[in-house]
Amino acid sequence: MYSEELFNESKKYFPGGVNSPVRAFKPYPFFVKSAGGSKITDEDGKTYIDHCLAYGPLILGHANPKVVREVSNQLTIGTAYGAPTENEITLAKEVIDRIPSAEMVRFCNSGTEATMSAIRLARGFTGRDKIVKFEGAYHGAHDYVLVKGGSGAATLPDSPGIPEDTTKNTLSVPFNDEEALTELIEKEGENIACIIMEVVMGNVGCIEPKPGFLEFIRKITEENNIVLIFDEVITGFRASRGGAQEYYGVTPDLTTLGKIVGGGLPMGAFCGKKEIMELIAPQGPVYQAGTFSGNPISVQAGISTMAQLDDSFYKELERKGNFLRGNIQSIIDDEGYNVQPVGLASMFQIYFNPAPVYNYADAQESDRKIFLRYFKTLLKEGIFIPPSQFECNFISNAHSMEDLQKTSDAIELGLG
Ligand code: PLP
Repeated sequence: MYSEELFNESKKYFPGGVNSPVRAFKPYPFFVKSAGGSKITDEDGKTYIDHCLAYGPLILGHANPKVVREVSNQLTIGTAYGAPTENEITLAKEVIDRIPSAEMVRFCNSGTEATMSAIRLARGFTGRDKIVKFEGAYHGAHDYVLVKGGSGAATLPDSPGIPEDTTKNTLSVPFNDEEALTELIEKEGENIACIIMEVVMGNVGCIEPKPGFLEFIRKITEENNIVLIFDEVITGFRASRGGAQEYYGVTPDLTTLGKIVGGGLPMGAFCGKKEIMELIAPQGPVYQAGTFSGNPISVQAGISTMAQLDDSFYKELERKGNFLRGNIQSIIDDEGYNVQPVGLASMFQIYFNPAPVYNYADAQESDRKIFLRYFKTLLKEGIFIPPSQFECNFISNAHSMEDLQKTSDAIELGLG
């Protein structure tokens, strides 16, 4: 069946025809038949250069041979044990070696679980109830953080079904706004358990912290005994070997991870200072659990992925990122387009906005209609990016220079 027919069929079984909202776009999303390296092929026989990369996990591209081989071996000796394995220690060591603030870690099954658990831990540690997030940040699909959310939630009003009693403890302020945060902490500081933040706001496009903003947050959280959580579900092992905290040189108390940590399989993790992490059950009283947590398949995929992410890997990926972003900048300069190219490392996006974007409100000013036209041109040219202005685009090491040149050429058409 072709994608159009499959989508019509799918709508009978799944709300909106998909299993996660951002996957649906008009008139219908392509249905995937297979993928390998930098390419993804649909049921209509068309192959795309993939810059969505499953929204971030696939830093090695699709079906990386080492990951496939080692995960296949693991499959033959069991998929879930309900008991610990040596491989969990191996992966934990990788995480702790790479992420500057990580002293202990707990594996779970998704980024959503990671942020939910890290917030509970921060509350358990401080004995405080309130949490602070930034407008437009996405920390997964659980109740406490779906207030002014990014990603799919950026295109919808705050979700029904979440009791006011739950969200009354979630406070939000604009990103990159020291004054608003200072004011909030002066008023509520004693009740705030944690600040949770995407260091780079990848779920409302790609917004970097202004110089000094992270240092300011680190200082004000320390002064007020507030746990600082960096949600590095996107940036972990992507912004650099040690994530955005290494890239910017500021370390939080806790870090949440997902996507790349599971090497393309479902996985999440949270890690941080020993004195906080030790409160997690069974060592401490803060409950956290999961049937599939630390499952041998995802853990093996994580290990097989980490084994390939060394310094030279990141150097090469950065080179590719700079090449593509450089091309985009030249196109914009040559034609005098009034748009905002953004990105770092292997992340990129273009805001269809005449002014620089520092926060959610700025991002919301972007012209979504023009973005959609741009997205469709890219798709027609065989380039797949997420179908939203409020997502980030990615590069993997499987992308060749030729792929990136094709992407640049399509972007030139898309901007025209
Ligand atoms: N945090 C951030 C920064 C994310 O980008 C995401 C997902 O995109 C999540 C948390 C939730 O992760 P998951 O979709 O694995 O539950």
